[in-house]
Amino acid sequence: PAPEPESTSGPAVECFHIVRRFGGVTALDGVSLRVERGEFFCLLGPSGCGKTTLLRIVAGLEKPDQGRVRLAGRDVTGTPPQQRPVNMVFQSYALFPHLSVWDNVAFGPRMRRLPENRIAEKVADVLARVRIEDLAHRRPHQLSGGQQQRVALARALVNEPEVLLLDEPLGALDLQLRRQLQAELRQVQRRLGLTFIHVTHDQEEALALSDRIAVMNRGRIEQVGPPREVYERPRTRFVAEFLGNCNLIQAGIVAVGDHQLRIQTASGFLCMPRPHGASGAAPGRTVTLAVRPERIQLFRPDQAPAHTNGWLGQVEETIFRGSTTEYRIRCGPQQLRALQAPNGTAHGPFAVGDTVVCHLPPEFLNLLED
Ligand code: ATP
Repeated sequence: PAPEPESTSGPAVECFHIVRRFGGVTALDGVSLRVERGEFFCLLGPSGCGKTTLLRIVAGLEKPDQGRVRLAGRDVTGTPPQQRPVNMVFQSYALFPHLSVWDNVAFGPRMRRLPENRIAEKVADVLARVRIEDLAHRRPHQLSGGQQQRVALARALVNEPEVLLLDEPLGALDLQLRRQLQAELRQVQRRLGLTFIHVTHDQEEALALSDRIAVMNRGRIEQVGPPREVYERPRTRFVAEFLGNCNLIQAGIVAVGDHQLRIQTASGFLCMPRPHGASGAAPGRTVTLAVRPERIQLFRPDQAPAHTNGWLGQVEETIFRGSTTEYRIRCGPQQLRALQAPNGTAHGPFAVGDTVVCHLPPEFLNLLED
């Protein structure tokens, strides 16, 4: 068949219903995904959820059992990796130990037999972009972990891939360096207008870097969206717990109004806005609610405003965390975790044994799907 014409339109990456099994293990269980050009896209999930396998399938290093991959509108499902406009950066930087930084970065362009003066230009340019031009003549073992990571990034960038796939590229670094390189990664991506797909199991990293996050669990994507949306509006129990450790409350729907739901729990009644498109929100249904610890407001009983959604409770534990204090509060059968910043509007600090009113703001209650 005639080759499909090169298309320059369409999203950078599209996956359609990808399935990949290894023996009895289903690593990917029907994953569909669309990454726009110039987007910083994170695949976030616990170990073994299929992130690396998905990245390898996009790169062409792994074949799906079912499903299709498209890059810039072109079907590449059967295309070998070297013919795809993507480059991958691995956690183990896999630098050539006997080559200098310069030669490591020049390796790709030399393989493509570019003229030496053109290669020199490209290498100099990319080393400057990741700010390691003064390390050009060192060998990998003479570099820190962060510097090696930049070399690995430079080696991928020099090939000018349309899409850069990053598999936990910061995984081996200590926290401080990691945070610093996160900011640099983001800057490089913005400056060059590249499409990045970044794999991580670090939720803070995903929140800080991404335009959008896909949260993966057991070979499936549970939720995709901008960081703030995925964080504030988790749709499933897994997302609510994996991202920021929400309070989960078992509840039953008592009444469904035009705009409000009235909900009964073992610790008291709650009201919340009726979620859009929540067709399953029918009276009598049991549901799980999620509320973030930092959204719960605490008051002394005599100073509590006459809100609905106020539960009386007793402080069981206080944990000082520097910028915040965490309280564990017993409200009947439910223990709530609440985080308070010292400059918050609520009262405090509270001590173990204090009686408090926990206000669960209706707008921050999330009805989970499962
Ligand atoms: P991690 O964060 O630990 O790297 P991950 O989310 O990237 O995990 P994958 O490496 O994609 O997960 O693995 C998904 C599942 O598929 C795991 O259960 C893994 O053991 C299995 N798996 C991956 N590659 C292979 C392989 N080549 N042979 C057999 N099983 C595999």
